[in-house]
Amino acid sequence: MHSITFLGTGGGRFVLLSQRRYTGGIWFDLGVNMIIDPGPGALIRALQFGRNPSKLNAVFVSHRHLDHYNDAELMIEAMTHGLKKTGILVINKNTLDYISEYHRNSISVIIPDIGEKFRIHDLEIQAIPTIRHENGIGFKFFTEEEIITYSSDTDYSPELIRYYKDSKILILNVISPDSKKTDKHLNTEKAIKIVKRVRPELTIIQHFGMRMLNANPNLEAMEITRETGVRTIAARDGMTIDLRDLEISEVDGQKRLFDF
Ligand SMILES: [Zn+2]
Repeated sequence: MHSITFLGTGGGRFVLLSQRRYTGGIWFDLGVNMIIDPGPGALIRALQFGRNPSKLNAVFVSHRHLDHYNDAELMIEAMTHGLKKTGILVINKNTLDYISEYHRNSISVIIPDIGEKFRIHDLEIQAIPTIRHENGIGFKFFTEEEIITYSSDTDYSPELIRYYKDSKILILNVISPDSKKTDKHLNTEKAIKIVKRVRPELTIIQHFGMRMLNANPNLEAMEITRETGVRTIAARDGMTIDLRDLEISEVDGQKRLFDF
């Protein structure tokens, strides 16, 4: 079963430091196992939510902020099992120097240009742009059945639409609610502009900042659904989406801790 599991849905400094929502990134199982943006707690949340880090094939880092790269070395260590196994690191240009030489040398590194397509085993992936956000990159995954797009942190620009189009699932990092002013991130108003034009089958919003959590991400997701007619949900920590039928399930993290 192909699936996506949210190891954390928090974003920004204050949520990161309070862990009001976790910051472990997103686990993609598309036949290839990948962790995207392993922020603080990625390893412990993977274990808590029943994902086995030694099964990882690749670690993805979109940009050089702590809530996106902090646990990258740890996940590389878990992926390579103390150098007994190989693995791949996909990372944007200006973040590679944050990764120790020891860890860089233990894996293959892919530093894609914007728009560039590359493969991990049979899976095709494209690096897509972000706007006004540390020269970061987003990722678009092409499986035989579906296209899944992860925006990473970005501001809005019409330029993004052509990169997001044809997505069955669009994952947007919407850090702020309604029309709250934000220069380097999406708020709900900007997300609506994107979803109206991309029209995926499902939009998932995540990477919530403090104001978003106070506003209630579920209400913001409902607003996006109402304005666009596109099913939109707010991700929760430990939520898994089954890509066959887009059914959602949630792991009781405490019960699953130390399950394997
Ligand atoms: Zn962020």
